[in-house]
Amino acid sequence: MKERVSSLFLKRSQSLAVALFLILLPATQAGQSDQHHGSEEPMPPEQALKLLGGGNLRYLSHDATNPPDYKRERKELVDGQHPYAIVLSCSDSRVPPEIVFDETLGKIFVIRVAGNVTDPTELGSVEYAADHRYSSLLFVMAHESCGAVKTTMDAVRTNTYPRSANLMALINSIKPTLDRTRLNTENKADVAVNVDRNLKAQMVNVVRKSASLARRVQRGELLIVGSIYSLKDGDARPLYYYDKSDGKVKPYPPAKTGRPN
Ligand SMILES: [Zn+2]
Repeated sequence: MKERVSSLFLKRSQSLAVALFLILLPATQAGQSDQHHGSEEPMPPEQALKLLGGGNLRYLSHDATNPPDYKRERKELVDGQHPYAIVLSCSDSRVPPEIVFDETLGKIFVIRVAGNVTDPTELGSVEYAADHRYSSLLFVMAHESCGAVKTTMDAVRTNTYPRSANLMALINSIKPTLDRTRLNTENKADVAVNVDRNLKAQMVNVVRKSASLARRVQRGELLIVGSIYSLKDGDARPLYYYDKSDGKVKPYPPAKTGRPN
């Protein structure tokens, strides 16, 4: 299973392989994932990851052969939703999850906040989705060159903080995740290090700050996967997962066989 999941996120240069792969994908993955997930139980996280991966491939290959029918979808969704994935992403205008995963109405439960931080309102939103058993996958999507991370790096380096308590709340969520020895926002490597650290810390925070989500993770009802979206290439492959056995964030897919937690 894990090989198939990771194979969905092919190297960006393999555009021909991507095209071939799309042809070979089953219709439910190659087209919009418009099969109705009728059961009460959420689909397995690996299956949800496959759907996200297939969508990211369609997005990368500019496949617009199966446009959404919003009128029909709105009608179908009036009485409820059953999104297959919960996505926590940055508010940055360049990383809209529905576009990045080529998805339409009712498919992804999205929480967006600058710096993809995990404060009470964001965690409350994830808990809401998990409590409704929508999805067993929480996909945390950071991105390259994140402005929220850079702003926090600048604030810490210069010891200059905004007056707004709201902006401070955001900065205070990112601040503890930074490498204090690498705060040069002109240096792309420093920014990349801190984007990576912030992503991993926010993934761990989900479990640390939410007893309800921690229980779900421990019971195997929720898999937390992290990604760093590439602004230039559009690649949103899974990079990390939260390993419930030791509470650490590790490279995805797991080295051993079987389910990643
Ligand atoms: Zn950002």
